[in-house]
Amino acid sequence: MRKKLICGNWKMHTTIEEAMALTKSLLEGKSDAMTSEMAICVPFVSLHAVKSLLLNGEIALGAQNVHFEEKGAFTGEISPVMLESLGCKYVICGHSERREIFGETDAIVNRKVQAILAHHMTPILCVGEDLAQREAGKAVAVVEEQLKLDLQNISKEDLAASVIAYEPIWAIGTGKTATSEEAQEMCKSIREYIAKLYDQETADAVRILYGGSVKAANAKEILSQGDIDGALVGGASLSAADFLPIAEA
Ligand code: PEP
Repeated sequence: MRKKLICGNWKMHTTIEEAMALTKSLLEGKSDAMTSEMAICVPFVSLHAVKSLLLNGEIALGAQNVHFEEKGAFTGEISPVMLESLGCKYVICGHSERREIFGETDAIVNRKVQAILAHHMTPILCVGEDLAQREAGKAVAVVEEQLKLDLQNISKEDLAASVIAYEPIWAIGTGKTATSEEAQEMCKSIREYIAKLYDQETADAVRILYGGSVKAANAKEILSQGDIDGALVGGASLSAADFLPIAEA
């Protein structure tokens, strides 16, 4: 049985003080009856402060990026060793903003996935097509190619414990959500492709999230789909009033 994961991606928002205030609001508002797992991927500078508020583990801590090397002359980068020592459970990699704005290739994403796993954290590997690719009927092929390249040399045991997030680029931060049918169709196709690349057991174990303008109003329908094991939430994770109803959906 795959446990649902509702993960916030705060992107480049919040000062340390704001991050702590938002974390406190989430802890105060979170219901004990919530059956899904909640995680927040906060800016690097706030990881330590936010972790100090999450000592009971009710909300898991995550980072939004990582370098694939453990240490060295990589000015401005953050290593997996650092994130592990800060108590991060999750690390987002392959987010379309990193691919598009910062030129991250699948080869780089693959090295990041390997580095995250080598340091006992869970990758949230983002894949997804842009609007032109969808309109050209290439969405499935694009996502399969990303998965094939991003998962090179990842064992079936590691993949089974990992998280994949299907994030159609045209739905991120645009207010345009994929319909629940479109989201389910792609998440199902990802699971089938994992079964082909690995085996059915691995495909049944890996958690597949949907991300792209998820909000309280559409969360319930999206999260009720059979192959969608949770949501990666950007904009709506920046306020407890918006994020908590998604986690409770
Ligand atoms: C994201 O950036 O991962 C995301 C899903 O953003 P939003 O929810 O704002 O579309």
